[in-house]
Amino acid sequence: MLHITRFIRALSLLVGALLLAFPAWSQSADTALVNGKILTVDSKFSTREAVAIRDGKIMVVGSNVEIRKLSGPRTHVIDLQGRTVIPGLIDSHMHAIRAGQTFGSEVNWVGATSLVEALGRIHEASQNKKPGAWLIVAGGWNVAQFKEKRRPTQADLVAAAPNNPVYIQLGYDWVVMTPAGFKTLSINSDADLPRPGKLERDANGAATGAIDGGGGNGVAIALFDRLPHPTFDEQVQGTKNFFRELNRLGLTGVGDPGGNNVNPEDYQPVFKVWREGKLTLRIAYSLCGPTPGSEFEELKSLTQMLPLGFGDELLKFNGLGERITWGMNNNDKPTGEDKDKFYQIVKWAAQRGLPVTIHWPKNETVDTLLSIYERVNEEFPVTDLRWSVAHLTNASPQSLQRMKAMGMGWTIQRPDAASVENAKELGVMMGAGTDAHRVASYNPFTALAWSLLDSKNAGGVQRGAEQTPTRTDALRAYTIGSAWFSRDEDKRGSLEPGKLADLAVLTKDYMTVPLDQIGSIESLLTMVGGKVVYAAGPYKSLEIPR
Ligand SMILES: [Zn+2]
Repeated sequence: MLHITRFIRALSLLVGALLLAFPAWSQSADTALVNGKILTVDSKFSTREAVAIRDGKIMVVGSNVEIRKLSGPRTHVIDLQGRTVIPGLIDSHMHAIRAGQTFGSEVNWVGATSLVEALGRIHEASQNKKPGAWLIVAGGWNVAQFKEKRRPTQADLVAAAPNNPVYIQLGYDWVVMTPAGFKTLSINSDADLPRPGKLERDANGAATGAIDGGGGNGVAIALFDRLPHPTFDEQVQGTKNFFRELNRLGLTGVGDPGGNNVNPEDYQPVFKVWREGKLTLRIAYSLCGPTPGSEFEELKSLTQMLPLGFGDELLKFNGLGERITWGMNNNDKPTGEDKDKFYQIVKWAAQRGLPVTIHWPKNETVDTLLSIYERVNEEFPVTDLRWSVAHLTNASPQSLQRMKAMGMGWTIQRPDAASVENAKELGVMMGAGTDAHRVASYNPFTALAWSLLDSKNAGGVQRGAEQTPTRTDALRAYTIGSAWFSRDEDKRGSLEPGKLADLAVLTKDYMTVPLDQIGSIESLLTMVGGKVVYAAGPYKSLEIPR
């Protein structure tokens, strides 16, 4: 025994001496990515050749020679073969928790370029499900993405899936179902629909199989709630699958603003994935007021044990929103009572130091919202709380100025180019994103392509140079810009020493590929905290089975 103890002691002294003599041994990188084009998205938007990662963080970004010096015998060296690397993308406003729950059980029309392709996915799903099982597309698509430029008809759906009830939702205002769907939900007339929904009728007064939501979003929300929910295990699996799908597109983080059809119990699947250490996406989540009429009491109760920032680098609490009250939710003509209720809650949030985020569609009415915030700001300053507005597509310089004065940021989803220019000039923080999954696709490259192309010429004609956000600006908004909204700009959003090693190796060079190809970029290798969460093509073997 004594011999062995002595031997071990001598050995450890020897190892210690070697480490002192060769510091690189003790400080070598876990992973080195070399021979690439690293878009660091630092303040100068520097480009480098290589990056070294250790303990989940960026050690050094530099030349191939510098990075190779940090490589030891245990370093995993990955040859990028000239490929472009970006910081992991962060969507500042994505309903990812909700989308994950149903991702395994719903049919997805994201990326389908024709109605034929979309209906093909319905048909394929019908082959894999039992007769009688629901086939659901709960948004995430629009007519413009289809070359046929039209919505599906009930006959299209019956042809694709004759033996299943089918439910297709467009945004929040229109739903089409097969006769089997109507039968299963016992809907025979307008009276069986949530109000103010109506059965859509053709010129002869015959029901078309579609449901008109009547201009609000309540009908689709209530109808969706009548559909069977996936089991808890399906929700957990769907969450993992959805996050991997986001990783495939270079995303490593989201700001999750709760949303319609999301209740406190709906957080349990994502909490389980987090607890198991299987989360591959960083989530900063905010909470909505669940029940109409009791939002304030519920928010107080829900957040009682949730100090701001509670959680870890993968999952953390980030304040209130996007629905603070039902009365002010996507409603730009609230009553005096609605406004007062909202004011009481946001004043309380200001006192507690909580961030607040909310949807506001149009600049024309945003004075209603900003006036309330200004009133609160005079009583309890919110300038350091990073409050934000989502959408506000056509924000005017005046509105942006008022937001800037309150330290507010703007989470942008298809904004007007001129408004983006103004925000940049005024120094209003912008985080890019999609508002996926019900109303939009979650693909960040579709969003990036859109922001760089003319919105009025979706065919791919460029905007005037003076109005086009540059590729660097657009990438900044999708990385470090979004990181600001969860106070993470010092931890992620750029590839700089000491920051978390969240990155994506792209299929094409984002900086030089023709504009009309940006939308088809994907990731070949995505890392979160230096761990491979998605790998394809030449890097396929690096993926750790989950
Ligand atoms: Zn939203």
